[in-house]
Amino acid sequence: MTATQTSFRANILNSAEGFFGPYGGCYVPEVLLPGLQEIASAFETAKDDPDFATELQAVLREFAGRPTAFTPLPRLSAEIGGARLFLKNEGLNHTGAHKITHCIGQILLARRLGKRRIIAETGAGQHGYATAAVCARFGLDCTVYMGRKDYERQRPNVFWMELLGARVVPVDEGSQTLNDAVIAAFKDWVAHPEETYYLLGSAVGPHPYPAMNTFFQKVVGEEIRRQCLAETGRLPDYCVACVGGGSNAMGMFFDFLDDDDVTLIGVEAGGKGTAAGQHAAKVLHGEAGIFEGYHSYFLQDGSGNIASTHSVSAGLDYCGVSPILAWLADAGRVQFAVASDAEALAAVQRLAQTEGIIPALESAHAFAHAFRLAAELPPEAVVVTNASGRGEKDLFITMRHFQEESLLKYAAGLLNMK
Ligand SMILES: *Cc1c(COP(=O)(O)O)cnc(C)c1O
Repeated sequence: MTATQTSFRANILNSAEGFFGPYGGCYVPEVLLPGLQEIASAFETAKDDPDFATELQAVLREFAGRPTAFTPLPRLSAEIGGARLFLKNEGLNHTGAHKITHCIGQILLARRLGKRRIIAETGAGQHGYATAAVCARFGLDCTVYMGRKDYERQRPNVFWMELLGARVVPVDEGSQTLNDAVIAAFKDWVAHPEETYYLLGSAVGPHPYPAMNTFFQKVVGEEIRRQCLAETGRLPDYCVACVGGGSNAMGMFFDFLDDDDVTLIGVEAGGKGTAAGQHAAKVLHGEAGIFEGYHSYFLQDGSGNIASTHSVSAGLDYCGVSPILAWLADAGRVQFAVASDAEALAAVQRLAQTEGIIPALESAHAFAHAFRLAAELPPEAVVVTNASGRGEKDLFITMRHFQEESLLKYAAGLLNMK
């Protein structure tokens, strides 16, 4: 970065109104504004308060298990024959993914505000699970909204949330998925503004959530900087992360935004193809618009309605993307790529069999791209991939896929025998 450029990092954290270029903002009904402003000003104070930082670091260490490991992947690097590959293992966090980190940050803020009641929305259930865990840890009442369809198909996560003491409310309106859960959570908030904190699950939504969740997640990139320097004596040449809403990607990228030599790549869900409804690639195939309180790229149909999305990984199956990433994409600071369902599943198997690590299907999108990239690079290049989560939660999906595959192979074998 030259002295004349303004720092991306400073722009993001000091944006009082939550605008990142034209993106972001706070486009919500009047009734929600006081609640959002209360959170925004609490965040403004907390982010520069050393006592808050000390408390946050202690909980991240003692409850989440930070810092997470930074792992060289020597066998894969040798097999691919290009760059040196490394992995940041966010899957080692308590509850199995990076999400616990911004849940801890927000729950500490909610406590400062004297809120006793936490509400959240969840699609696949991972955010609800992390939220239920922090609520139990701090003795706060927890209500999680879930579209009826998600509620039915994500029984294991519903079970864990309830075991942790949360009330899980199925939502029967609309398409009965994540967007309807968001609307139900907003309605609840309007009805109980005084005692309630809305704990949002990614770097999306109205101001201050995008900047706030980025602030809480940026510890990931800070750890990578230290760990990569200690391990290799240099910074990464490439940082690769999957992008659903964008919280794990922003967590990884933030600390490097002003290091021009570090290339940052977000990998979107390519699903089954580029046709509408077959993927969840907002930056590469979406259009700018306003939805769920913020301005960003969204997948839309020809008449500006929100389009349906598809990804084998539930965590990437969302129609919008962080307004901060939309801005960084336009500025050319973060590059974007896609990986398909099939490439992600193949990456799970490859990482499992070559390095003994089973990544979440979401994270596997980032690995699929990192493997392609590494093959083209010289051996001294350093490529770090964010393993946003571990793969155990995907048991049923992954098993179904590989069992189908082995059944097909078995059938093909029988045919060949004839
Ligand atoms: C939720 C989730 C994601 C997607 O969310 P982002 O906000 O884009 O990070 C990615 N990986 C895992 C493991 C998740 O649980």
